[in-house]
Amino acid sequence: MDSTADRARDGQESPLRWCPSGDASRPETVVLGVRSGEHDQVVYLAEPVPAADVLGSIPEGIAPNRVLRFASHCVSDCANRVGEACGLIERITTVPAEPGPAAVPRCHLRPHCKWWNQVGVEACHRCPALTTLEPRDDELAVLVADPATTREQLESWIAAEQ
Ligand code: SF4
Repeated sequence: MDSTADRARDGQESPLRWCPSGDASRPETVVLGVRSGEHDQVVYLAEPVPAADVLGSIPEGIAPNRVLRFASHCVSDCANRVGEACGLIERITTVPAEPGPAAVPRCHLRPHCKWWNQVGVEACHRCPALTTLEPRDDELAVLVADPATTREQLESWIAAEQ
């Protein structure tokens, strides 16, 4: 992570945060981890690697985010922004966690991570499995991924399923 990570942005008070579900194509983007194993859980890199160094080695026809997770700057024009907050991690943590103990991954992004700084360790419990929340998987995943979904809508959907 470069030294700009916690620097105030454009003279504003807010520190620069990084999105752990970032855009592979931004100039500052780094590889956060590799999807692996039975459920495509993310295995986190010990050190950030510039995305530009690895994107060229991904075979044509495979979307980079199918095999890697990226981190890039949390930007004010992101569709998931709700004021200064990330609406995506709010929606993700509205969904009840799987039962049982959840490990906290070792992760190079943590000091600068938007999700960690917003909701703490609960984000880290959910982070490795984010790939399971892709829209094609199920109706709940569609709702979680949609920036227009409110917490109340999610809670209603979950209550109706129980
Ligand atoms: S949510 Fe936690 S595990 Fe995921 S990138 Fe942020 S600090 Fe790392």
